[in-house]
Amino acid sequence: MANLRKRLSTNVDGNFFVDSTCINCDTCRQLAPASFQEKGDYSSVYRQPENAGEELEAYRALLACPVGSIGAVKKEKGHLTQATESFPHHLEGGVYYNGFNSEKSFGANSYFLHHPDGNWLIDSPRYSPHLVDAFAQMGGIRYIFLSHEDDVAEASRYAKRFNATRIIHQADSEAMPGAEWIVSGSDPVPVAPGFYLIPVPGHTPGSMALLYNNRYLFTGDHLWWDRESRTLQAPSVYVWSDGSLHQSTQGLLDLRFEWVLPGHGDRIRLPGPEMKAALHRLLKRWSDTADRRA
Ligand code: SF4
Repeated sequence: MANLRKRLSTNVDGNFFVDSTCINCDTCRQLAPASFQEKGDYSSVYRQPENAGEELEAYRALLACPVGSIGAVKKEKGHLTQATESFPHHLEGGVYYNGFNSEKSFGANSYFLHHPDGNWLIDSPRYSPHLVDAFAQMGGIRYIFLSHEDDVAEASRYAKRFNATRIIHQADSEAMPGAEWIVSGSDPVPVAPGFYLIPVPGHTPGSMALLYNNRYLFTGDHLWWDRESRTLQAPSVYVWSDGSLHQSTQGLLDLRFEWVLPGHGDRIRLPGPEMKAALHRLLKRWSDTADRRA
């Protein structure tokens, strides 16, 4: 619950505000870019919502904020209910963004995949009764894919509630004691028709991506879209091994996908050839940097 007494001075006057407990995770800026902006080490409201759509976005950001740093001086109950019911938020096909980001994963995005052979949770949101009900109504959760050790959040509680199988790579498995399915090695693993687990060591030794239907690539913290530079990005800090990171990214050129759905950073959909070109540009930036250092 945001605290008015901690309201940051960088907020513009008006109903919505961010307080000084913000951890600068970017979630609100992804969900409500018309209202939230980075200012110094925090997010702030730079413009109050000006129409019903922007107001709904601001309420969605308020709900998704992992640490409750977003407040509304006067909460419109109807809008809050509407925002709650908008999660999980449908993206395309059977893919949803869950909202309710967890502080335990530093506000990472998590996803739900509705599938006739059993649903998937991709990384974990915070444990929310609203999401539990929504997942139950869509048939529960069969698998919980954990992209890496940082984003397990409340996976155990969801696994217990839905009797789900937690999948994590052996190299990151200490983060998820009792995980039912431990992946090892560096080769892609077919897990179900249309689903491949893709080890992408680099950010952590056990980072993995999940490829679904040669269209959706859930990337954890391995790869994301940057809305300002309009480029694909990979971690430059908190990297376990640069060499592995580059090799893993190079390996993605062998895959076909049109969506990048990350934990941190923006998601993006591009036609396949454009996605591949964006990946080539990322690799070229790395090789140019290496040449300059040589
Ligand atoms: S979602 Fe919350 S913690 Fe994250 S940047 Fe926005 S206000 Fe800060």
